Amino acid sequence: MRALAELSDAELAAAVAERGGQPFQARQVAHWLWKHGASGFDDLRNVPKRLRDALAADFALRAAVVRTAELAADGTEKLLLALADGEAVECVIIPDGERTTLCVSTQVGCPVACVFCASGLGGVRRNLSAGEIAEQVLLARGRLPTDRRLTNLVVMGMGEPMLNLDNLLPALQRIHDPDGIAMGARRITVSTSGYPRQMARFAAADPSYNLAVSLHAADDALRRRLVPTASHPVREIVAAAHDYFGQKGREVTYEIVLLEGENDRPEDATALVAALARLPCTVNLIPWNEVDEILAERGLRRPVNARVDAFAAALRRGGLNVTVRRQRGADRSAACGQLRLRSSGA
Ligand code: SAH
Ligand code: SF4
Repeated sequence: MRALAELSDAELAAAVAERGGQPFQARQVAHWLWKHGASGFDDLRNVPKRLRDALAADFALRAAVVRTAELAADGTEKLLLALADGEAVECVIIPDGERTTLCVSTQVGCPVACVFCASGLGGVRRNLSAGEIAEQVLLARGRLPTDRRLTNLVVMGMGEPMLNLDNLLPALQRIHDPDGIAMGARRITVSTSGYPRQMARFAAADPSYNLAVSLHAADDALRRRLVPTASHPVREIVAAAHDYFGQKGREVTYEIVLLEGENDRPEDATALVAALARLPCTVNLIPWNEVDEILAERGLRRPVNARVDAFAAALRRGGLNVTVRRQRGADRSAACGQLRLRSSGA
């Protein structure tokens, strides 16, 4: 059964009209769904019961439910969501002072297969629909205490967002829409492992979201080892990111997942400085979150803090802006894809 949350405004208007409803009633349904976070047809209070019943006969309201929730000591809450076809994805709520950031998924699994990532271990099973992407915000919002609201959204969960732009763009519209979830575009960041053509398409879309690029290494051969399916040279990825800045006026963030002895050596810092110096950007260093299955099989290691600090210092000496991401929710397997991995044995 399809969910109303998966319909575009035009499809919802048609579904309501087919059941004898008026266009303003379709808008009321959307309003209940996206603005008020209605979770059942009974919540749609000013929609006539006859119309509600007719819709409920053919549609679910939402496409996902929370199957499990794991709360870490630092307040990070990781949700495993069950989808209508039995698949599962994750999203993570990350409170941090005044901010509350939600990390959402775009695909079930991921086709990119980065060597350090749990999401890519079982390949990709399917794209999420626009409704399934946007609904993660509704589900997370519904769990927050009344004195907290979602302030930021990062598209950094399972999957490669640029390989599902057809569904991601309408989902972001829904999340941004002042009549819907109403989150400002400046508070929304999409992370990609680097697809120049799709980045150009993302740049052409309105409004202007923030872009993060998972670069990991500036040397092509090393990058191909870490991101085996990456077929684009670093120079093209950086050029596409720079074009994004040119078009949108938004500084790009480059993410580097640091793996001891692999991409955290002095020469790796030198190569990054050469590739990124003089570009308006920030480099975000992410010491690898260990994934047991990968640790055992591939022998990758998280660098000790001193190595991370030395790497950051080398980049700063080269003139780059650097931030270091400290681990969150570590006691509950914070790295993306791990909860699903554990629950399914995928
Ligand atoms: N596919 C997109 C977005 C999802 S991954 C991308 O790769 O950018 C979001 C970020 O988490 C990426 O920067 C990715 O490199 C990082 N990541 C994945 N697995 C990780 C792990 N085990 N530890 C730390 N960062 C990880
Ligand atoms: Fe996919 Fe991103 Fe994980 Fe790479 S890091 S496998 S692109 S989710």
